[in-house]
Amino acid sequence: MAERTFSIIKPDATRRNLTGKVNAVIEDAGLRIVAQRRIQMTRAQAEKFYEIHKERPFFGELVDFMISAPVVVQVLEGDNAVARYRDVMGATNPANAADGTIRKLYAESVGENSVHGSDSADNAAIEIVQFFKPEEIVG
Ligand code: ATP
Ligand code: MG
Repeated sequence: MAERTFSIIKPDATRRNLTGKVNAVIEDAGLRIVAQRRIQMTRAQAEKFYEIHKERPFFGELVDFMISAPVVVQVLEGDNAVARYRDVMGATNPANAADGTIRKLYAESVGENSVHGSDSADNAAIEIVQFFKPEEIVG
């Protein structure tokens, strides 16, 4: 079933000029980039986006990291896009990520791990509207 998920190419990856290489892995996995924009996240946006982690010890560090350089926000579309993109991303900690995954290829650490992907279809819908207007998504 065609589905959409929300993706962020994080500051560690944009800083190293890896946007194109990350997008190549995404497209090779059969996901279509149907919306994309490079932005500088505000602190308020980053805090809201990662609100679910606000009690975690790494929350402050995570927010500081997410606003430390531009990010690329994206909407990806394809069959089972949410689960497929989680597979393509690999484990949160790159030390545990499978070969060929974005995090195995490019992530620097458990915190600076190159990409975000929604963890459910419900969260994908919530995250997409935080960054895109419906008319900006062209499938
Ligand atoms: P994301 O939500 O960014 O797609 P994820 O779902 O794989 O990643 P989460 O558990 O939701 O992982 O954590 C959100 C983000 O918080 C991670 O991607 C990472 O950037 C950061 N993070 C998670 N665990 C740690 C940690 N132990 N130390 C530092 N940062 C962490
Ligand atoms: Mg997550």
